[in-house]
Amino acid sequence: MSRVAVVGAGTMGNGIAHVFAQHGWDTALIDVAPGLLERVLAIIRANFERQVKKGTVTGQQRDAALARIRTSPSLDAVSDAELVVEAATEHADTKSKIFRELDRLAPPAALLASNTSSISITTLAAQTRRPGQVIGMHFMNPVPVMQLVEVVRGMETADETVAKVVEVVKALGKTPVVVNDAPGFVSNRVLMPMINEAVFCVMEGVATPEAVDGVMKLGMNHPLGPLALADLIGLDVCLAILEVLQRDLGDDKYRPAPLLRRMVAAGRLGRKSGRGFYVYRD
Ligand code: NAD
Repeated sequence: MSRVAVVGAGTMGNGIAHVFAQHGWDTALIDVAPGLLERVLAIIRANFERQVKKGTVTGQQRDAALARIRTSPSLDAVSDAELVVEAATEHADTKSKIFRELDRLAPPAALLASNTSSISITTLAAQTRRPGQVIGMHFMNPVPVMQLVEVVRGMETADETVAKVVEVVKALGKTPVVVNDAPGFVSNRVLMPMINEAVFCVMEGVATPEAVDGVMKLGMNHPLGPLALADLIGLDVCLAILEVLQRDLGDDKYRPAPLLRRMVAAGRLGRKSGRGFYVYRD
C-alpha cells in the first residue's frame, strides 16, 4: 500500500499526515473547516523544519514529504486511497456519518481506520458494507514523536485487516499493540482512572498538584505527572472519556471527580486555554 487519505486535519490529523508522507505515502489530507488546510500545511512544514534542525530528516526528505501531501475540503479525495485514517472530531454521529460516506466513496478494497479515543470501532464498522475492513488505529499525541499505535480489532474486523495494519504501523517506524474493541481500549481505560484519582487527591486536600505529580514522576518514573498530562490532553477531553467509560462499562468506579467537572465548566481546560492544574504563559 502507498496511498492514504487522512480525514480531519486537527491536532492528530496533521501529525498522522506528516508521518505517512515522511514514510513515502501519497497523502490526501481532508478537512471541512474553511481556511484550516493552509494553516495546517504551514504547521506540518514547521514540524518538519524542527526535524531537519535535529538532524532526523534531511532537507531533501522534507521537501519530498511535503510534495506528497495534497489537501482537499471534500471526502471525494478518498477515491484512490488504499487506506483511510479518520481523525475527525470525537463525536459519535459525526464519525458514523463519515464512515457511511467513506464506504460509498473509497475503493471497495480500501481499509477504513479510525483514530477515535473512545468511540466503538464495532459501531463504526456497522455503518459500512465492509465491517471486516474497518479497524482502529489509535495514534498518540504528538504523532511524529510517540512510539505506540494501539491497533483496535472490532468484533467483525478480519484477521487479514489486522495483519495489514500491523505491517503499516511498523513501516511508519512505530510499534503496534493489538487490543480488542472495548470502551477506552487499553490506553484510556488504564490512564483515565489514574488521572481521575489524581484529581480526587487534589480535591480532597490530600496533596497539591505539584506534590501529586512529584510522587508519580520521582516514585513511579513517569516522565510527566498525571495532572500535567491531563493539562496536555485537555481536561474537557479527559472528562468526556471518563463519561464514556462510566456509561458504557456501567460502572461508577469511573465517575469523574467533581473538581474535574468544575474546572471544565470554568473553562480551565489545560494548556489549550492557558490554565488547568498549572498556568501556561505561551
Ligand atoms: P481536532 O478537533 O483538533 O480536529 C478534528 C478536525 O476534524 C477538525 O479540524 C474538524 O474541522 C475536522 N472535521 C470535523 N468533521 C469533519 C468531516 N465531516 N470531514 C472532515 N473533517 C472534519 O481533534 P483531534 O484532537 O485532532 O482529535 C481527532 C481524533 O483523534 C478524535 O477522534 C480524538 O478522539 C482522537 N485522538 C486525539 C488525541 C489527542 O491527544 N488530541 C489522541 C489520540 C486520539
